[in-house]
Amino acid sequence: MEECIFCKIIKGEIPSFKVYEDDKAFAFEDINPISQGHTLVIPKRHAQDLWEIPEDDLAAVHHASRKIIQAIRDALNPTGVACLQLNGRAVNQVVMHYHLHLIPRASGEPELPVSSWELKQGDMEAIKETAEKIAAAIR
Ligand code: 5GP
Ligand code: ZN
Repeated sequence: MEECIFCKIIKGEIPSFKVYEDDKAFAFEDINPISQGHTLVIPKRHAQDLWEIPEDDLAAVHHASRKIIQAIRDALNPTGVACLQLNGRAVNQVVMHYHLHLIPRASGEPELPVSSWELKQGDMEAIKETAEKIAAAIR
């Protein structure tokens, strides 16, 4: 099977602009940045998505992302940073190796498309039913 592109980046078989690395996590700049400083944080061990990633790798990625977001604040002085993580091709996950996007918004730049959507009041009864359904399925 063809190895995944992010596994190749971790091994250095594909070049990347690395910003951080520890024993479990790796972070590098996105080559199609939504904004300056758009960074991807990934586990070194391959896992497809939030359903699959082991807890220790998940924790490592999120600890690393806090370190990196602090560096982004110091280096780029953004007005905010959106954290985005997609699970499944149906929601436009393209690279099937878990990754957290850190997407800064620079001062004076327009709102990020990933952080703005129209708020519409939901049906309270339907929301309650859905909450109960999910809560009952928690393992
Ligand atoms: P997804 O839609 O799966 O959450 O996003 C995948 C991201 O990976 C995209 O933002 C895309 O620009 C980025 N990407 C895809 N291939 C490469 C690559 O070879 N190098 C880097 N640095 N980023 C990549
Ligand atoms: Zn991989």
